[in-house]
Amino acid sequence: MPIKYKLKKNDPVVVISGKNKNTVSKILELDKEKGQVVVENVNVVKRHTRPNQTNPDGGIIEKNMPFSISNVMYHCPKCNKGVRLGVKVLENGKKVRYCKKCNEVIDKA
Ligand SMILES: [Zn+2]
Repeated sequence: MPIKYKLKKNDPVVVISGKNKNTVSKILELDKEKGQVVVENVNVVKRHTRPNQTNPDGGIIEKNMPFSISNVMYHCPKCNKGVRLGVKVLENGKKVRYCKKCNEVIDKA
């Protein structure tokens, strides 16, 4: 099974381009088909809304908008920066992701 994107939901990431560059946050949503991510507090747009059922007073809502997955990298806590991930197979046959810089295994075996 080819793994095109090594990132997963809830992964810590750092933004590597755009106005939110260098922001460390986490993945809220991941759309592998479109190659897009939604990252907490990144690419937030404010929208003025009319009152509705979920927001009876109307006003301004903030929404995290999706953007290209290529704008984020995994944020390795050990390296304290964005890193590339590798995938290796453990003795028990389980695939885990690891940091290519420090070799720290990210997924719990
Ligand atoms: Zn690392």
